[in-house]
Amino acid sequence: MATAISGPRVLLRQLRETMAEPLAAQDRLNKIVGLIAENMHADVCSFYVLRDDGALELFATRGLKAESVHMTTLRLGEGLVGLIAAEAEPLSLENAPSHPSFAYRPETGEDPYNAFLGVPVLRAGQTLGVLVVQNAERRVYGEDETEAMLTTATILAEMIATSDFDTLIKPGQDIDLRRPRTFVGNGFTDGIALGQVVLHDPRVVVTNFIAEDTEVEQHRLATALDTMRLSIDDMLSHGDMQSLTDHREILESYRMFAHDRGWADRLREAIENGLTAEAAVERVQNDTRARMMRSTDPYIKDRLHDLDDLANRLLRVLTGDGKGIGMKELPENAVLVARNMGPAELLEYDRSRLRAIVLEEGGSTAHVAIVAKSLGMVAVGQAENIVALAEAGDDIIVDGPAGTVYLRPTSEVEQTYVDKVRVTAKRRAHYLELRDRPAITRDGVNITLYHNSGLVADLPMLNDTGAAGVGLFRTELQFMIASKLPRLNEQVELYSEAIRLAAGRPIVFRLLDVGGDKVIPYLRAEAEENPAMGFRSLRLALDRPGLLRIQIRALLQAANGGPMKILVPMVTDAWEFRQTRLVVNRELERLSHEGRPLPSRLELGAMIEVPSLLWELDQVLPEADFVSIGSNDLVMFLTAADRANPRVAKAYDPIALPRLRALRHIVDSARRYGVPLTMCGELAGKTVEALALMSIGMTRLSMSPPSIGPIKEMILGLELEPIRKSVSAALLEGSNGVGIRELLLDWADRQSLII
Ligand code: PEP
Ligand code: MG
Repeated sequence: MATAISGPRVLLRQLRETMAEPLAAQDRLNKIVGLIAENMHADVCSFYVLRDDGALELFATRGLKAESVHMTTLRLGEGLVGLIAAEAEPLSLENAPSHPSFAYRPETGEDPYNAFLGVPVLRAGQTLGVLVVQNAERRVYGEDETEAMLTTATILAEMIATSDFDTLIKPGQDIDLRRPRTFVGNGFTDGIALGQVVLHDPRVVVTNFIAEDTEVEQHRLATALDTMRLSIDDMLSHGDMQSLTDHREILESYRMFAHDRGWADRLREAIENGLTAEAAVERVQNDTRARMMRSTDPYIKDRLHDLDDLANRLLRVLTGDGKGIGMKELPENAVLVARNMGPAELLEYDRSRLRAIVLEEGGSTAHVAIVAKSLGMVAVGQAENIVALAEAGDDIIVDGPAGTVYLRPTSEVEQTYVDKVRVTAKRRAHYLELRDRPAITRDGVNITLYHNSGLVADLPMLNDTGAAGVGLFRTELQFMIASKLPRLNEQVELYSEAIRLAAGRPIVFRLLDVGGDKVIPYLRAEAEENPAMGFRSLRLALDRPGLLRIQIRALLQAANGGPMKILVPMVTDAWEFRQTRLVVNRELERLSHEGRPLPSRLELGAMIEVPSLLWELDQVLPEADFVSIGSNDLVMFLTAADRANPRVAKAYDPIALPRLRALRHIVDSARRYGVPLTMCGELAGKTVEALALMSIGMTRLSMSPPSIGPIKEMILGLELEPIRKSVSAALLEGSNGVGIRELLLDWADRQSLII
């Protein structure tokens, strides 16, 4: 009986020589299948490649009829070859024709063969093709033979991926690996980006597959495993890491896998079969991916990510390939693709070249999403499995509003988006022309537009939009992207820089609004059942006033004798606002003791975002220098619908009558006390919603910078008075079943407003 006597090592050596020979692609492939057949003592060896149309095409054979090469095809799932490709699992049969999936192809002359062994050709867990051996005699292939075939398949996968067979592809067709892919995720931002993929965590590219000396490779693997295990232990015992519970858990699971015997054994076996240490890592990870990817269990999927990371770490140790290649050589229109990343990592890139970020994970409230948005980048999350499918340099289109990502888009898709972007670019140019025009309605109502901001890096955008200043500077963003608590001096520097960049335009600095959706990794927080309604924001600040004092001190120092506006978040009752004022007053005294200049004018404002405060406006308004509505939280609490959960948040229109009545109550109260009122929630930056706000008397709107143009355009074309009357009547008498939104859209239509 035949066995793999010459062994896979000999085969791999022969393959290496063949790959170095100056042969035409088809000749090389014919020689390769011949070598495999001889080495495996098989009568037949066939190699199928998965095409972009889902067909598996016979690319080469030894033993079947030569005419069937590039003629015979099987669909995914069809026949034994299709089954192997679809399931990404090897299949070994003593009597293939009796298998229910067997599909007879007369042109191949397959009749006399009974024994069958087929393995998937995998890369990053994706099937690229199928490799088959057959024998006339009924026989059972051993596990070592399956293993040898899988090892050989690793090399073929690399040949497919590196375009070695490109000349064999018929015109109009391509290999599946380069198929256009669409991912439907969650869009975090508006905007569309066209560009090239940059992998945040580039896969280490293995170039050397076949071992010269197996002993040496085993030794390299052992050393690399030790180094990697030590580095994980080191990270775990590192002081800073102790508080980062999530991170710690991840590292613990890395450690578990890194010490896993089964994993190390499989790596050693792959080397024994003739692969280099790095090729062995890739080979084993391929199988693991293929199996785990087909699981629907989220726990297993998470573990797959851990294993991917671990394999990549090991590859880095083996190849000495450092991280961050992508950071140095960003293409002009870079689209960053990552499983997940921290905001600080994002900021390490050259922002002038980054157009978008696509994540496999991440919700819209992930810090990196907030930062991406704030930097005016397009961001999409939940693009499942994109990291494995994308190659550096691939064309990619990211559609923020639709949450869709097109990897290697077809020319039709690309053309559609090129047109869309052209329109957007034109519109942007048009908005730029409006920059210096004040936002006044046709009937003379002056509306002041401000930016919502949170990073010093955002501030130069004021020059592009012509906004009056920053209506909300979310100071927590700088805390979220720092690796440790910014000290007094660092904060002073940061706020001074913001003031300098605003060049005389006012900035409303909001005190730290931590908790709920805004997590600061180094501030240890206890797990809460309902973090949005938990120990957060001002509650936390007043309970632990050290942080609050330092921040207020930093702001007062940064004012450097100029004006300063401070906004207090999450005020639930007037007492809390008073307490904050006491801290501010104490810090003012301290400032004057130290002989530093006092702010020329200090204004302290309250955010109205907790419903309870609506019934304490008579107490808080006389004490506040200004107020600002945080509709994101206010609407969430009014409707008991989590702002971060689109399923419920979208169910309640924030400008429906009950919410609009609440807002109107605030507008009327603020007017009665003569206190300036701003809207700084997301509502202000959406055209219909902004129209609703203006129709109830709001004249200061603060929004993300890209919204300024469209909102100003709408205001310039608007005659407010008739709409104001109509909305006022609806607020009093109801709107006869017509929603406020419909009513506003109808008015806008009649005025030919661009909305
Ligand atoms: C709000 O709640 O509307 C708001 C402006 O603040 P944030 O979104 O930062 O909670
Ligand atoms: Mg809020």
